Amino acid sequence: MMATLQLDRILGLDKSKMTVTTQAGVKTRNLIDWLARREYALPTIPYYIDQSIGGAVATATHGSSIFWGSLSSLVTEIKIVLADGSVRTLTEADGDLFAAARCNVGVLGVVVELTFMIVPNKIVRRGLGYASDAHLLTELKKAEHDSLAFERVHYWYSPPLKMAAVTTVDNLSPLEQHEAKAMASLGREASDWYSRLFADSPLEKPLQRVVLANYLKTPSAKEAATNIMLGHAMNILPGTYKLSDALPVQQVLETDILLSAFGRYDQYEYAVALDKAHDCVKSLFELFDRNVTNRDDFRVPFCLRFVGPNHEGLLGMSRGGSRFYLNMDNYDVYNRHGFSQSMQVIKDLMASDTCQARVHYGKASIYSPVSGAWTKRDAQYVKDTVGVDIFERFLSAAKTLDPSGKFADGVLVPK
Ligand SMILES: Cc1cc2nc3c(=O)[nH]c(=O)nc-3n(C[C@H](O)[C@H](O)[C@H](O)COP(=O)(O)OP(=O)(O)OC[C@H]3O[C@@H](n4cnc5c(N)ncnc54)[C@H](O)[C@@H]3O)c2cc1C
Repeated sequence: MMATLQLDRILGLDKSKMTVTTQAGVKTRNLIDWLARREYALPTIPYYIDQSIGGAVATATHGSSIFWGSLSSLVTEIKIVLADGSVRTLTEADGDLFAAARCNVGVLGVVVELTFMIVPNKIVRRGLGYASDAHLLTELKKAEHDSLAFERVHYWYSPPLKMAAVTTVDNLSPLEQHEAKAMASLGREASDWYSRLFADSPLEKPLQRVVLANYLKTPSAKEAATNIMLGHAMNILPGTYKLSDALPVQQVLETDILLSAFGRYDQYEYAVALDKAHDCVKSLFELFDRNVTNRDDFRVPFCLRFVGPNHEGLLGMSRGGSRFYLNMDNYDVYNRHGFSQSMQVIKDLMASDTCQARVHYGKASIYSPVSGAWTKRDAQYVKDTVGVDIFERFLSAAKTLDPSGKFADGVLVPK
């Protein structure tokens, strides 16, 4: 086990190339804030920003960006310490070695530094709307032909409520930029309002217990889900913000509340080719409507996002086309029944021909009946989903960078 906590320095900006170089143990949140103080932003960020940036890139972590892809797509240079202690700096010119390192799942060496593309931290408009099941399906059909219209769109779909909150983040015209300046000062603090509601209150602990009760014990799943959706809506208040503040992120307190309420829970996330998204989600809704899987088991909304076809490495999820991601939180395993029949049904749908989904490396496994990320069967799974040729190219890059197999996990890469 190796910790990267002390690799915590952001090394600098190259304004002419529009890049930032950082050590790999830096928290994504700290990099975003450091850039914002200098009027720059990462063009796309995940909802969760308290992981290390090295871990985020290792697993092709993403937000919702058709244009920019994932964090792995933004990387232009990777410095990696190899098993023999030597240091390699990999760029596009290194072909498959760079392509392997972009989404390395920790099996090539220790990534110590990363360089990312950045953009000016412009003022943008964040919108909040709502969509019914039918409207969501219409939109997914539209996304098949006009994917760019879904740049930075997030859906928060609540199964018990049969509706989604929709966050949009749109660019402003130069004139609008000028006029919007005065309004942009609130920044992420505005969207922190919901979190502060908990933090500042002397009732903080009781409130957390209320949240817990609402998630797990409230007999009405609709009531619990409404509560959670309201919380989300407050967390993504519409308005004009700097880009770094407008992209939806999980607040620190939101994480604390979830952890204190549940301790442990699993997240499953599936990437579906964009041209299958409509049929896949339609089938999901049919399962819900026929009660094959239970809407009320999903009190926390699904997070639905879009990621473009940009390069994100050999093992990347977006190779060959844009993707639609479905993220589901499962609280049953550790907090309720010990096993979620509803989640199992969804896993089967995701693995079916209708969805042909791939599992995000940063989340729980498709095969594990209970939880867990990498299982023995995942190597076969990755081989099947990326294709044998690509998988072999990854193994070959692993062999070049780590001939002794020191970083091989014995699952994906044989020792
Ligand atoms: C609450 C929560 C919300 C999340 N939300 C999102 C989201 O919105 N979008 C999304 O795409 N993902 C999301 N994720 C997934 C998350 O981004 C990934 O699991 C990420 O890999 C976690 O980073 P970490 O720093 O915790 O890394 P770890 O879990 O410690 O490591 C993950 C993998 O990366 C490797 N690794 C880490 N650092 C290095 C390094 N320096 N060099 C080489 N290998 C390394 C490890 O060996 C391991 O294989 C979420 C996760 C959580 C827990």
